[in-house]
Amino acid sequence: MEMERVRLGRTGLMVSRVAFGGIPIMRAPKDEAVKLVRETISLGINFIDTAHGYADSEEKIGEGIKGAAREDLVIASKSPADGKKTFDEHLDLSLKRLNVDYIDIYQFHNIASKAKLDAIMSPGGAMEGMDEAVKAGKVRFPAFSSHSIPLAMEIMKSGLFDVVQIPFNYIDNDAEREIIPLARELDMGFIAMKPMGGGMLDNAGLSFRYLMQFGGIVPDPGIETIEEIREIAEIVNEARVLSAEDMAEIERIRKEFGPTWCHRCDYCQPCPQGIPISTALTARSGMKRFTPERARAMSGSAIAKAGTCAACGECTTRCPYHLDIPELLKAAVEHWNRAAGAASCSV
Ligand code: SF4
Ligand code: SF4
Repeated sequence: MEMERVRLGRTGLMVSRVAFGGIPIMRAPKDEAVKLVRETISLGINFIDTAHGYADSEEKIGEGIKGAAREDLVIASKSPADGKKTFDEHLDLSLKRLNVDYIDIYQFHNIASKAKLDAIMSPGGAMEGMDEAVKAGKVRFPAFSSHSIPLAMEIMKSGLFDVVQIPFNYIDNDAEREIIPLARELDMGFIAMKPMGGGMLDNAGLSFRYLMQFGGIVPDPGIETIEEIREIAEIVNEARVLSAEDMAEIERIRKEFGPTWCHRCDYCQPCPQGIPISTALTARSGMKRFTPERARAMSGSAIAKAGTCAACGECTTRCPYHLDIPELLKAAVEHWNRAAGAASCSV
């Protein structure tokens, strides 16, 4: 089966209208994950995105793509490294695990602060590793992911990166205003992270029909089962128009989720108690997608800290979405504890 392909900005790479996101296969047994990757390719999806930090996702993908025409695949992965030495190690490991000679798009994973960006760009920083990797043919196109719109815009304007990955769905839709127009102006590829809200939006039809309205962007949903990827492929192959009913439903969901939806912009910081607010408020999404161990590593300490909220209200005055942060933190802790109980304290 063929899926329509789109040009990923100035990379010139022609990628399927939807990518395969490699987070949830961490939880799948290896043989099922390999079958899933093969089914994905047979559906005409040639764009596969994973990361150094997604446990054995790279290895499973490496096994799944064996036998496929390498030149027809677009493989993306990520490293969270700040320094060159760690970056070099991550990249070599990504190449080995994926069993490929080159990676098409290698991303600095989640540049979340100016300090992280400065470390990457400083002498001996990861950018030196990226430049060398491009010269050596290990990486074709440098890229980055981030949750911060202002920081992402600054990085995009540096001209050093060909592709940007930012959350984008019908609730997290800030990218629509500035990032997507800027990506078009700079002819950069745009990957829509969390097209289904990181597992929080369950109507795939609505999510993908919405995103298909934006030409040239490529949603990157995390996929766990063959049924999921078949359903998404069918929607993407057929859907082009958002109906009035779809729009009404999107508005209804926006109203329902709006008062509780953290966009991870971190404008609420700093918290005098040192609570990583956005990490705690989005822990539920991590629990849906990652293994219990990984979810605990990512969010466990933030949830523990969230319990120390003094309800001073400083953060709420800074949140542009007017979230009742102290109440939401309380709910996040309660949800985490319930889930931990249900999983015999595994989360
Ligand atoms: S209300 Fe809680 S989370 Fe917000 S700034 Fe105060 S202590 Fe921090
Ligand atoms: S709580 Fe509000 S300000 Fe803080 S990260 Fe979430 S959306 Fe942004």
